[in-house]
Amino acid sequence: MFSYILFILYLKKNKNRSPKKVVSYHGKYMPGLSNKLLSKLEAVSGGSFGGERLEFCDAIELLSSDQLVLIGSFADKLTACKCSEMYCYDLPDASKNSLIRTYNVERNINYTNICVSGCSFCAFCRSEFSPDAYLLSDEVLFAKISETVSLGGKQILLQGGLHPSIPFEWYESMLQKIKQKFPDVNIHGFSPTEIVFFSDKYCLTVEEVLCRLRQAGLGSLPGGGAEILVDRVRRELSPLKASADRWLEVCRAWHKIGGRGSATMMFGHIETLEERVMHLARLRELQDETEGFTAFIPWTFQPNNTKLKHIKKTSSYEYLKMLAVSRLFLDNFQTIQSSWVTQGLRIGTLGLSFGANDLGSIMIEENVVAAAGTSFRTNETEFKQSIKNAGYEPKRRSDVHCQPSTANLRLTK
Ligand code: SF4
Repeated sequence: MFSYILFILYLKKNKNRSPKKVVSYHGKYMPGLSNKLLSKLEAVSGGSFGGERLEFCDAIELLSSDQLVLIGSFADKLTACKCSEMYCYDLPDASKNSLIRTYNVERNINYTNICVSGCSFCAFCRSEFSPDAYLLSDEVLFAKISETVSLGGKQILLQGGLHPSIPFEWYESMLQKIKQKFPDVNIHGFSPTEIVFFSDKYCLTVEEVLCRLRQAGLGSLPGGGAEILVDRVRRELSPLKASADRWLEVCRAWHKIGGRGSATMMFGHIETLEERVMHLARLRELQDETEGFTAFIPWTFQPNNTKLKHIKKTSSYEYLKMLAVSRLFLDNFQTIQSSWVTQGLRIGTLGLSFGANDLGSIMIEENVVAAAGTSFRTNETEFKQSIKNAGYEPKRRSDVHCQPSTANLRLTK
């Protein structure tokens, strides 16, 4: 709520903003960033925050500027600073630790493509009666997980559409069966959007839904369905989906029972720069409160095969800038993940020098982005080599940071 008030004040104050100043920085001619912001970036990126934090207007100034390399270098400095702490148990020399970049191996399993939401940006969903609608059988589901395990994967990302006629017990049973067969696999499953849908459909509170799924085997919560956490955008793109407040309410409730999960942002469609920053501000505010987010993953809207196919794809330049600004603004997030799935391996790896410390996962299967016409493929050897070529030490991430604590497992009414 506080960030929403700041957002409104910002819009009022900056109705007639003057063009940016031209300043000199480190002896170079640098159009685009004010001296005030540059000194703030120096403080923030050095890790000596001293109460300094990027504000709403700072993030807008960064996103509006053409200083990609400069912004990236500040973000990279901050990543090195944060990650030397993060990996300090791995290598004795902190400067080496800051060069580690992580990745994972996992599979994105969409248990159904049937969905009643009909988001205009989605190329994946089908109606219940569509000839290519599906709901995975146990046999197919287990075969996919079994293959993932045989390839060294320890986590599945389990998400579906919002199915109109499955009973809630079906989801609990699916989780229980997976955990019985594959006790060591972390189920990173059900976006906050699905949780809100379950809550409304089965007349359960959000807490009841979360606790029951967790008791059945849910390990961590992916941040899907966030898109842009501003209701003007959500009403236009996906009017039947959870509001921004409700998306955040699910994450808050999950964090409060000891759960952990990621946060995402899909940008580059109908949102304004201000709305992107509003999204970041709302996540930062919740992270201040709960510390429950393990990672932030921004990715660009893929327009092919969607109702919004007239929208031009966001450039890699804009993607890298957004990634770097996310690192600088979300000062309370440990991990920022680069999205090679939407950007390709070369730009995805470049993101490791623009604020990201993780290159996401080698996806054994991915359906949602592929349905929108973007399908990059790689293997572990190529993935590691790409990270090495960028000057970093590749390290396969453990899923432990996504595992919930075992505290507070009791169902809260
Ligand atoms: S994005 Fe998700 S909720 Fe929206 S239509 Fe696609 S599957 Fe359904």
